[in-house]
Amino acid sequence: MNSTLKPKQADNDAILVINCGSSSVKFSLIQPATGNTLLSGLAECLLTDDARIKIKIAENKDVIALASPFDHQVALDALVTTLKQQNLTDDIIAVGHRVVHGGEYYAEPTLIDENVEQTIKQLSQLAPLHNPANLIGIKACQNAFASLPQIAIFDTAFHQTMPEKAYLYGLPYHLYKEHGIRRYGFHGTSHYFVANQAAQQLNKPLADCNLISAHLGNGCSVTVIKNGKSVDTSLGMTPVEGVMMGTRSGDVDAGILIHLIERLGYSSEQLDKLINKESGLLGLSQLSNDCRTLEQAMLEDNNAQAKLALEVFCYRIAKSIASFSASLTDLDGLIFTGGIGENSDWVRNEVVKQLSLLNFALCPEKNQATRFGKSGNIAANSARNCWVIATNEEWVIAEQSNALLQQLAR
Ligand code: AMP
Repeated sequence: MNSTLKPKQADNDAILVINCGSSSVKFSLIQPATGNTLLSGLAECLLTDDARIKIKIAENKDVIALASPFDHQVALDALVTTLKQQNLTDDIIAVGHRVVHGGEYYAEPTLIDENVEQTIKQLSQLAPLHNPANLIGIKACQNAFASLPQIAIFDTAFHQTMPEKAYLYGLPYHLYKEHGIRRYGFHGTSHYFVANQAAQQLNKPLADCNLISAHLGNGCSVTVIKNGKSVDTSLGMTPVEGVMMGTRSGDVDAGILIHLIERLGYSSEQLDKLINKESGLLGLSQLSNDCRTLEQAMLEDNNAQAKLALEVFCYRIAKSIASFSASLTDLDGLIFTGGIGENSDWVRNEVVKQLSLLNFALCPEKNQATRFGKSGNIAANSARNCWVIATNEEWVIAEQSNALLQQLAR
């Protein structure tokens, strides 16, 4: 490892945060000391003719013209060029990478060396769509920023505190011991961020808080946080389990998969596509995976199939939240986050109205007003707290990368 660890923190020190997906790279440059985002952007539709990259510096959005198709490395090279043009490279002290699957190996932010890379690669078995893409980002940044420490922040890390009773499946134990077949959970950085924000609202340490958080975006998960720690979450060994999502089915009777193989001749590829890409809101509505489109179709065009899909979606979320109350003896409140959780007052209302037994009820005006990046408590008077909190996974990655650097430099 030839990277340099900076011993002390300056206000203008910045962490470059990289979230590399199979066809996209999201990035931001964040100053941990001030919380400022100096630059952010997204390269999407990589490796296709529609590949494009947008970079926002302060308030100015810039679309960089690159001949498409281009790949992750080209996108990151364009980012480096911009950082150099803006004289920002000297302030970068590390690159923090979102890595989806850390298995049972990583419960903390981790400095990436050859062993860590190898483990992330091995864990691709558990996250075939995500970990290889994360590694592409790591390699590209090692090329672009050879002297900087590269740090991995794992989506699964926050859930490593789950007890055995929550992470084991009702399957033969040797499948867990020999093959790692257990529940891991995802969206950890998001649940951690919003739980911290809720603790601030409650004006007490996170370690004293009992919360349920619903991250509802294209991927969705519900997590129960007891004394500040994740004790159960709805996503499992892979990001398919639990509540229904944009295109993922969520929980289905495992027997259905056998039925599809034996009676309808499905191959493993077809099953994979079915439960990951063709199900959820898209599969049920037969219209779209996008919550906004479905709400519009339901409310403006009376589209019954869109309404059905949204009703199943909300009922399953409410059931998941209610079932997680079994982990707690005390509950400070419920948190909504993610693209749907932060913006859809309809979904929030539909979910919460099915949770009156837990003393949840919304104030309609506050629910309606708390959208588009606004955060706040939307509970009715005398009901249990219910917050909308805009998530910020990038900030967690920057903060935790910086904390690790400071710790290593001591
Ligand atoms: P994410 O994966 O967190 O970016 O969330 C994407 C989801 O948020 C998509 O289903 C969007 O339709 C949904 N979303 C974003 N804005 C709104 C909105 N104003 N109303 C309803 N859903 C929204």
